[in-house]
Amino acid sequence: MQTSVNYRPTKAIVNLEAIRENIENLNIYLGNTTSIIAVVKADGYGHGEVEVALAALEAGAAMVSVATPDEAVRLRMAGISGDILVMGPSPISFAKKAAELSITVAVSDVDWIQGVLQENKIFPQTLKIHVKVDSGMGRIGLRDVNALHSLMAVVASTQHIVLDGIFTHFSCADEVSSSATEVQFKMFMDLVNALPEKPRLVHASNSAATLLYPEYALDAIRFGISLYGMAPSKYVGENLPFKLERSLELHSELAYVKLLSKGSAISYGGTYITTGEEWIGTIPIGYADGLRRGLRGQEVLIGGKRVPIVGTICMDQCMVRLPEEMSVGEKVIFIGRQGTEEVTMEEWAEKLGTIPYEITVSITKRVPRVYL
Ligand SMILES: *Cc1c(COP(=O)(O)O)cnc(C)c1O
Repeated sequence: MQTSVNYRPTKAIVNLEAIRENIENLNIYLGNTTSIIAVVKADGYGHGEVEVALAALEAGAAMVSVATPDEAVRLRMAGISGDILVMGPSPISFAKKAAELSITVAVSDVDWIQGVLQENKIFPQTLKIHVKVDSGMGRIGLRDVNALHSLMAVVASTQHIVLDGIFTHFSCADEVSSSATEVQFKMFMDLVNALPEKPRLVHASNSAATLLYPEYALDAIRFGISLYGMAPSKYVGENLPFKLERSLELHSELAYVKLLSKGSAISYGGTYITTGEEWIGTIPIGYADGLRRGLRGQEVLIGGKRVPIVGTICMDQCMVRLPEEMSVGEKVIFIGRQGTEEVTMEEWAEKLGTIPYEITVSITKRVPRVYL
């Protein structure tokens, strides 16, 4: 799949088998009344949208979902033939293409449908929609039964649009308290029950709700972060109903090694000064690869040991303080396992004051993805 050569040893190793295992274990946990929508937005959370979509569908996911129309078109063009749902907003101008490519879109109000019908007097194919309900997230979606009824009236008046599903999104399902999620679920179900006929797919749960509240599983769940082996939050991680397999490691190698005398400055600003004779290694990875400057001091794994990044992280390189002399070419693990040690995205997220979601999507295009 790689079109360019990769001389640089910095690579993201994607384990598609881990993704398949997560789908298989999730299917066992859900039983056969709930299907899996594999969320592959943002380039499959940085893993590669096409590769993940294929692996997830092959392992038993019923459908894939993305955030944007462009993501959906790319998947279709790459040969993904199953159902694809665009969960975020689509412009009216996308409706025709969506119908043509059999891409399902989320619809939040009747104006959108009317706009689509005005713009397309005849549709070559029918357009499949999932109505989006805002049950408390405050992002997109209709919020009351009147809005739902006026949307349904227009859908009923045309042959060109088919109601395939209705869904909502939880804002606090990863937290200790379940009350906000309960309120959202009840509000959503009140609207679902106001429909004259239940559509094929009623779905609400993200990874957190899937793992913590199996009673909200309904016809389908949308599995994102945990498809990739990460827990949505610490709390969910401590209450997992089955083990998740991590699917991405970030590897590189020592590119240069030197012994410095006491008092030598390292990197921009000279903020790190050696406190004695020190072996310093240079690694060809920097913030343009997603190794954010705030990760200075973060440990990496070399020879099974934890070794700190020292000095300012550069755009393309960084330096580490080695415990002893080591050779150029020695393997360096930024995220992943070596011996008994492991560095996780959660550890990076904690250091940067963010969530693992932001880490996994921040590994940039420059880092080749290598598939196992
Ligand atoms: C991103 C997203 C998901 C997946 O959420 P995870 O927490 O990654 O499982 C599900 N539904 C919607 C609407 C989303 O935007």
